[in-house]
Amino acid sequence: MPELTPTKVAAYFHLDEGGAHCELCPHQCLILPGKEGRCGVRAYQEDQGLVSKSYGNASAIALDPMEKKPLYHFYPGTTVLSLGSFGCNLRCRFCQNWQISQKIQAADILTPEAVVELANKYQHVSCVGVAFTYNEPTIWYEFVLDTALLLQAADLKTVLVTNGYISPEPWRELLPRIDAVNIDVKGWSEEFYHKLCGGSLQPVLDNVQTAREYCHVELTYLVIPGHNDDDTSLEGFARWVRERLGAATPVHFSRYFPNYRLDIPATPIATMKKARNIASEWLDYVYLGNVEVNGAAHTYCPVCHTLVIERSRFEAPRIYASYGRCPDCGTTLPLITEA
Ligand code: SF4
Repeated sequence: MPELTPTKVAAYFHLDEGGAHCELCPHQCLILPGKEGRCGVRAYQEDQGLVSKSYGNASAIALDPMEKKPLYHFYPGTTVLSLGSFGCNLRCRFCQNWQISQKIQAADILTPEAVVELANKYQHVSCVGVAFTYNEPTIWYEFVLDTALLLQAADLKTVLVTNGYISPEPWRELLPRIDAVNIDVKGWSEEFYHKLCGGSLQPVLDNVQTAREYCHVELTYLVIPGHNDDDTSLEGFARWVRERLGAATPVHFSRYFPNYRLDIPATPIATMKKARNIASEWLDYVYLGNVEVNGAAHTYCPVCHTLVIERSRFEAPRIYASYGRCPDCGTTLPLITEA
């Protein structure tokens, strides 16, 4: 594995049993000298303690539509400077970004100041801030936190696209600096998380609820045939979202395609439609992603069913709401917009 530089002393660890005990995520790795934790980016160096080897190490930088995160109710029609690093603390067999999540490489080194400067530079194309995405941002913790502090001071937004697998204390430290999150709920059982992701479901659900206290939350559920697409799981998930977060929480069902270590065929379109139908019994804003189904990415007023935001894959969304209100019946919609 190529060496990553620079290193930065990590947050959330203590020395114990001849190693460093990382407290950043529920894995709570005990890392011996010269070794790395399960995420591959936090290493114990006896002269420094636990270090983050990925501080400022950016695998990808792009200006993306906000809709691509996906965030549909957060500044629709804007763009966001999107950054990723390397590594992940889960091992999802179906990972859609495994080239950067499961392989650690040296790459462009950025500073938090440079990220803010870049985001500012793109304001003329409606860039509202920075999204930490592509790989798992919570294991990029120190860089994300440092950058988010500067973004907040510069009146720019910070977005996380995350698996939500982080310990409660660092999560509560980070969230006041975050404006919006899209959190993956990857399945609806501990068995699913254990067998397919190498993690557990409950910490993710706890963190989803905590995030709701601080910022805008949308959820993504990748629908995988035979693993999490049964009616009981889909309904259980949708009911939980309604009961714990509210019916107005946007939920994105994303279509699985074979990737990394899972090679079963892509999710049938009929299954995607079924997921939407089941969840729509409980939730007001259910979207389908990675799939062409007419109207499945549009936002409709939950009261009068008027089309409020029209989305297509290749064009900017058409927004008919103004000041977050339905253009027909005037209902206030859960949209964070510029106007
Ligand atoms: S962040 Fe990495 S090193 Fe720390 S507990 Fe999680 S997997 Fe282990």
